[in-house]
Amino acid sequence: MTNVLLFLCEGLVYVAVMITLLHLRHLLGIGVFIAALGVLHFIETYLAAVFYVQLPFGVISPGSAVLFSGKLMMILLLYLKEDAATVRQPIYGLLAGNFLTVALSLLLQMHETVTVVPNRTADLAFIDEMGWLMLWGTLLLYLDSLLIILLYERLGRWVRGFLTLRFLLCGIVVLTFDQAGFYMALHALNGAPAEVFWGGWFAKMGAAVFYATMLGAYMHFSSHSKPFVSRQPIGDIFNTLTFRERYEDLLSKSGRDMLTGVLDRSRFEFEAPRLIRNAAASGGVVSLIMIDADHFKSVNDRFGHLEGDKVLKAIAAAIQSGLRQSDYFFRYGGEEFVVLCDGLDHAGALLRAEDLRNRVAADVVTADRAAVTVSIGIASTPVDGAAAQDLLSKADARLYEAKRRGRNCVVGNV
Ligand code: GH3
Ligand code: MG
Ligand code: MG
Repeated sequence: MTNVLLFLCEGLVYVAVMITLLHLRHLLGIGVFIAALGVLHFIETYLAAVFYVQLPFGVISPGSAVLFSGKLMMILLLYLKEDAATVRQPIYGLLAGNFLTVALSLLLQMHETVTVVPNRTADLAFIDEMGWLMLWGTLLLYLDSLLIILLYERLGRWVRGFLTLRFLLCGIVVLTFDQAGFYMALHALNGAPAEVFWGGWFAKMGAAVFYATMLGAYMHFSSHSKPFVSRQPIGDIFNTLTFRERYEDLLSKSGRDMLTGVLDRSRFEFEAPRLIRNAAASGGVVSLIMIDADHFKSVNDRFGHLEGDKVLKAIAAAIQSGLRQSDYFFRYGGEEFVVLCDGLDHAGALLRAEDLRNRVAADVVTADRAAVTVSIGIASTPVDGAAAQDLLSKADARLYEAKRRGRNCVVGNV
């Protein structure tokens, strides 16, 4: 019982100090947290090699149950709080440091040593053994770290809100994988019996529950201690955006045209191929509607650029009012807009375009109350091609044809 309590205390001390260092990273620098993580690696390996205690369900080392499991969860936490580029640093640092340790210990063993403390001599064989254990452990850690982050991301699709559960599932899967890998090495090295696997596995599962609870509590606490949480979209109760989630969040806010607020051309380059590929994969269709303001230069010439800007905004708003939730709306050039309609075939796109044209003609006027009109060209998959570029050039040619026919009209594939 005392042993269980001691494990708990060790876990608490570990978590308290490491989370504090991570939490204060803006004050201390992230290096403090990472260095502490690295330093602990030595004692962790040492304990896992020789320090075992009896628990009700088996013989366990704090090296793996407390320190190793903790380190993996800290790597996940670092990933959450920072990003993939930051979490790469301790992982590669540990890998490099451990290889260096082993290389140096090979050289150290060639020394003729002298005894300075009576009855104490260096245990070189042990250093050697630990070195190999470190190498194997680090390689496993490398795989574990990749696995835990990938798994965390994957789980986000299913259990995005339930952070503690997400941590727990990650811990259970990855620590089981790790235990199997570690046991394989122990079994191969010194024929460790199956109980060693199960004892260690139980301890790691206990660690998964403990650390998941602690990390979940910390994320809860830290999200509530930050004033900017309220800016997160509803549904993200906690400040738990990971690198990918943050990236997507940022992406949804950036890539917008300053004047009209619709998506800009760079977003078109990003979204169009993806949308068309996904539609093709599921047998769906995509239509592209290209819209160009008629005689827009004369609006500028007559009323000035500021008035021209106002009219452009009004055109964008009129188009927007006729779109569905699933449509993508881009400002493609100066007074050119593109709408991508997922799941809309060519006949449907013709009707939609006609509606958009009507909306602009009805809603948008210049300063002298004259109506502003647009010309529209349409192209659809699969008839007009299977690539964004095909649709663009077909729609562009038809837009040109619409201008030729006298403007304020729609031209499709007829
Ligand atoms: P057409 O019917 O043939 O399309 O005639 P147009 O005058 O619209 O054609 P053109 O492409 O020659 O002119 C487009 C004009 O749009 C030129 C440019 O001054 C204006 N324009 C482009 N971007 C902006 C903008 O952001 N603000 C304003 N005010 N004008 C813009
Ligand atoms: Mg124009
Ligand atoms: Mg133009």
